[in-house]
Amino acid sequence: MIRISRDQIVYSFDRRNPPVATIDAGTEVCFETWDARSGTVQSERELFNRPHPKGPNPATGPVAVRRAEPSDALVVEILDIALGSRGFTGVRPRLGVLGPLIADYRTKMLDIVNGMVVFSDRIRFPVRPMVGVIGTAPAGEGVGNISPGPHGGNMDHNDVRVGARVHLPVFVPEGLLAIGDVHASMGDGEISITALEICGEVTARVELAKGEGIARPWIEFPDCWISTGEGPVIGDAIRVACEEMIALLQRRLGLSVEDAYMLTSIRGDVRVSQCCEPSMLAATARVVMPRF
Ligand code: CA
Ligand code: CA
Repeated sequence: MIRISRDQIVYSFDRRNPPVATIDAGTEVCFETWDARSGTVQSERELFNRPHPKGPNPATGPVAVRRAEPSDALVVEILDIALGSRGFTGVRPRLGVLGPLIADYRTKMLDIVNGMVVFSDRIRFPVRPMVGVIGTAPAGEGVGNISPGPHGGNMDHNDVRVGARVHLPVFVPEGLLAIGDVHASMGDGEISITALEICGEVTARVELAKGEGIARPWIEFPDCWISTGEGPVIGDAIRVACEEMIALLQRRLGLSVEDAYMLTSIRGDVRVSQCCEPSMLAATARVVMPRF
């Protein structure tokens, strides 16, 4: 296994970012990740009123994968997500689903104790670790780590968790994989724009699917397939995720478009992943389909 330090981060997915390591397919990699604010929020006095100068969501990498070429896919199996001992969340006036209710910026630091989030003396719940940002370099202009897209990026799907096999398109030679923005817990929707943001260590096995030829990310579990979508508002994200599920069912099961549409309507679960309008973030959604 190799380890990539959180000193080696990027704030965009960009083919011009030089790789910090080059690996063979099948290698296990531990990505040490910063929280979404690059470690600058250490107390409840630090508010979200000033953006970090380099942007949000540092991602560790990029890692180059030998022999990966456009039309291949990287398959990133999440083996473990270790969490730091303390994270933060917060609210901002005017932004997020309930922004109009909020008069002032507010930050809350939260301890993780024995696998539990300590929200208050009375309220504790188990952590639900997931990876917010994961992706490869796009073919054209770079994309900042605030945005999701066909390359992955800030997708914020709760199903990018231990056990997931995340299929990512390869757009440039060697793929250039980067991972960041671990959450100790995030509700589907991330309605305030902020999850329980925390430093982490994401251990993943990086495989290469030659010629998979996908246009955008999807997620595989032993018992289900999950398509992904994004857009300016949640309806657009849902439409993309549904189109992708239908394409997946046609490709993998040989179904007609009509049968794939019907099967998705009667058995696919549309789930909101990120829905925090108004905000600077795109919306994301996914469709979960059992494997047959
Ligand atoms: Ca995020
Ligand atoms: Ca985040």
